[in-house]
Formats: sequence, C-alpha cells, structure tokens
Amino acid sequence: MPPRIDAHVHLSRWWPELGRTAYRSDLEYTVPGLLAEMGQARIDYALAIQIVEAPATDEALDEGRRLLAESGGRLRPIGTVDPTLEPPRFQQALEALEKEPGIVGLKLFPGYRSFYPSDRRVDPVYELAHRRNLPVLVHQGDTLLGRGLLKFARPLELDEVAGRFRDVRFVLCHLGNPWIDEAAEIVYKNPNVFTDTSGLLPRPDSAYFDRVRSRTRERILDAILTTSAPERFLMGSDWPLQSLSASSALIEEADLEPEDRDAILGGNAQRLFRLGED
Ligand SMILES: [Zn+2]
Repeated sequence: MPPRIDAHVHLSRWWPELGRTAYRSDLEYTVPGLLAEMGQARIDYALAIQIVEAPATDEALDEGRRLLAESGGRLRPIGTVDPTLEPPRFQQALEALEKEPGIVGLKLFPGYRSFYPSDRRVDPVYELAHRRNLPVLVHQGDTLLGRGLLKFARPLELDEVAGRFRDVRFVLCHLGNPWIDEAAEIVYKNPNVFTDTSGLLPRPDSAYFDRVRSRTRERILDAILTTSAPERFLMGSDWPLQSLSASSALIEEADLEPEDRDAILGGNAQRLFRLGED
C-alpha cells in the first residue's frame, strides 16, 4: 500500500482568519492539531502550501522549515511566489526558493494576485520548477471570501502554459471548481497536468452537507472517467476549511478500481512529489 497523502493543506501564522473560518469552530490550527487529525484519517504526509500573505519569502520558508521539523517530516512545505511583485523582490523570492532544500513544489495564486498563468512574467517560476524538478500547483476556480478575480482562475488559462512547458508538471487545484468539466478537459489534453480534489465540500453543519457530499463524489468520479487518467488525480482537503476524514472519504467511497483508489489517496502524490525517497 502506498502512503496516504493529503496534497493540499494550509497552516500559517500569517493567515489566522483561515483558522477562524475552519470547518469546525474548536479546530486546533496548529501542528499538533493537524497531526492529530492526520492520525484519525490515517494520513501519512500532508503538503503544507505557503501563502502570499507572509511578509516575505524568507519568512514563509522559515515557517515551512519549522513545520517540517515540528511534524517529524510529515508536513512537506510547498513554496509560493507572487509574479506581480516588482522585479527586484520577485527575483529575491526566486533565489530564496531556488536554494531551499525542503520544499517539494511551488504554488501560484493567479485569481488572488491578478495575473494569467500564461503571463510571460511567470516564466521564471516555470524555469525554476524545471531546473529543480518541482511540480507547480496553480489555484484555479473559486476565490475564497469574495476576494480576487475569477477571470484569472479559469482552468482554461492553464492550457497554454502547460503546452509551452511540457517538462513541468502542474497541479490544477480544487478541480477548478465550479468549472470541473473545463478542468477535466485540461487534464485530458495535457499529460503534464494533474489535479487535486480539495476544498469541494461545504461546512459540515450545512443542512445540505450530505447531499453535496454525494454529489461531489459523483463529480470527482465523472472527472476521472472523462480524463481516463486516475493516475493524475490527488486527494486533498484544503484543511482547515475541510476535514481530512471527509476529504479522504470522497475517494474511499467512490466507485473506483481499488488500485486507482489507493493511487489517488497517496500513490500518485508520492511519485509526483517524490516523498519517502529521502
Ligand atoms: Zn488551498
């Protein structure tokens, strides 16, 4: 059995509101709190995605190192960079990321920072990803709490750059929700595009939670069947916004071949992010 991996969590002191909008009000938004939940959901590793709210890349990378150490290697940091920064600061951020040994990927937030993934300003990020063999995660779909601009976050916007950088592996986050069909087509067409299933569920106290959950399970399955590429789907939660056990259950309960289910629950992410090789 491959390890079980949550490919999409957030834990940062620079985004405390995220802890306050967690899926339950008594959630412990700390390393021990996340590790306890990983234990309950039998998750071995989680990818801790850094956010653009940190004051500087160095500080975000410091925090990532601390998460890695404090979790005994179970929380693997994903670095982030904002290509709309003025060029000297952008360059500094890229240099810091280039030298950081612990990160297992890079994340871009086009919808929140107002740039298209195909913008030529972003090319140095893809070139860095290529040099270091790091997958690039791209937030696609809904932007939380009414922030950002959705025109930058359409899955379709990833098509051009996925073609221009065929040697770079991309992860289209959140299945591009609500544009799941569009995301599935991008995954189908581009063999270097993966997708994650994070952040698709409402709060569990919603009267419609059970109905949305069964519909979400079908939407994920539909995307897998559309692409015929279960090897490029990754289970994710978007913790603290969604529980790890509800997120893994979406895959555990889906009508999939057992080996594909195990792959989506962790085997695919293990290969993509080269976890457990060190
Ligand atoms: Zn997220």
